[in-house]
Amino acid sequence: MSRVFNFGAGPAMLPESVMKKAQADLLDFKGLGVSVMEVSHRTNEFEELLDETTQLFRELIKLPGNYRTVFIHGGAQMQFSAVPLNLIGRNAAKKALYFETGVFAKQALEEAKRYGEIKIAASSAETGFDRIPAYDPADFDKDASYVHLTSNNTIVGTQWKTYPKTDDLPLVIDATSDILSRKVDFSQIGILFASLQKNLGPPGVALVAIREDLFGHASPYTPKLLNYELNAKNNSLINTANTFAIYMVHLVLQWLEEQGGVAAIEKHNKKKASCLYEAIDQSGFYQGFAHPDHRSIMNVPFNLPSEELLEKFLNEALEEGFYALKGHRSVGGVRASIYNPMPMEGVEGLKSFMEEFERRNG
Ligand SMILES: *Cc1c(COP(=O)(O)O)cnc(C)c1O
Repeated sequence: MSRVFNFGAGPAMLPESVMKKAQADLLDFKGLGVSVMEVSHRTNEFEELLDETTQLFRELIKLPGNYRTVFIHGGAQMQFSAVPLNLIGRNAAKKALYFETGVFAKQALEEAKRYGEIKIAASSAETGFDRIPAYDPADFDKDASYVHLTSNNTIVGTQWKTYPKTDDLPLVIDATSDILSRKVDFSQIGILFASLQKNLGPPGVALVAIREDLFGHASPYTPKLLNYELNAKNNSLINTANTFAIYMVHLVLQWLEEQGGVAAIEKHNKKKASCLYEAIDQSGFYQGFAHPDHRSIMNVPFNLPSEELLEKFLNEALEEGFYALKGHRSVGGVRASIYNPMPMEGVEGLKSFMEEFERRNG
C-alpha cells in the first residue's frame, strides 16, 4: 500500500502519525483491554480524555475564560439549526443577519429562516461568491440577535481576513474549514463552531464554543440534544458521545501542539497557499477562482482552459499520487484543499506537477 497526498475537501487527510497512533491504540484504550469505541462514555478513563481534549483545544485556540465548549452530534449543518434555536430568541424581533458568501453560508441562512426573520447582511452571490462582499457595520440592525458568517468558504476558496466589528451583536462563526489554522480574535464572537472532518478529526460531530452570557435564550421547542446550555451542563454527555471521534480530536490536537501550535501552523499554512497561488499567477494557463484579495489559505480552486484538459489533469494528477483534486460540482475545475495536516512536500509536488502539465499542454 502506498499513501497518496490527499487534497480532498472533507473528510480530509489526517496526520500520518495520528493515524498510526490510533492504529496502535485501537485494541487497547488506556490499558483497559478494550477499544475506545467499546468503552462507556461515562467511565473515568473516557471523561478524562474528554476533559484533556477540551483543555487542549482551549489552550491552542486561546479561548477566553467566559466561553464553554461542547461536542454536538450532526456536524456543521446541525449547527445551522442549533444556532437559531438557541440564539434567535435573544431579542423579541427574532431576527438574525447572515453574510451570504458561499454555498454553506447560503444553506445556513436558508435553514435559519425556519426560526425567524433572516436578513442578508451582504452578499457576493452576484459575482458567483468569488469574494467577501463589502459591508457597512452601520447598516446592521441593532435589534438582531446575532450576525452569522462563514469564516472560510470551502467550495469557492474565499476567506475573511478580519471579522467585522459588530459591537453588541454577537458574531456567530462557522469555522468548519479553517478552525485552528490561524489565530482568532474572539472580541466579537458569541459562538464559533466547526464540524470535525476538515481540521480536527472524523465527520459527524461539531465542536462548539459559546460565550456563557448567551445561554438562556433557547426556544422552548429546541431538542435537548441541541440545547447549548444543557450540553455544557452535561459536559457533552447528555447521551452517548462519539467516543472515537473525540479520541481522534485529542490526537490531532496533540499533533498540532507538537507543530508549535496555531501561530506556527498559520505561518506554514500561508507558505503552502502562497506556493499554489504563485503557480496559478505565474501561468497564463491556470485560472484562479477567488478574487486575489480574498483568497483562502485552506482551499485553492482553479480551472484549466477546457473541460478536456481538466479531465486529463485530474487523471494524470491521480496517477502521480495527488488524490481528490476535483472541484465541487457547483464550481467545477480543480480544488486543492490544504488543511493543517497537508505537508509542504505535497504542495510543492502539486506545484511541480502543475508546471510540468502546463509545459506539455499549454
Ligand atoms: C464542510 C462544511 C460544512 C458542512 O459540514 P457537515 O459536517 O457536513 O454538516 C459546513 N460549513 C462549512 C464552512 C464547511 O466547510
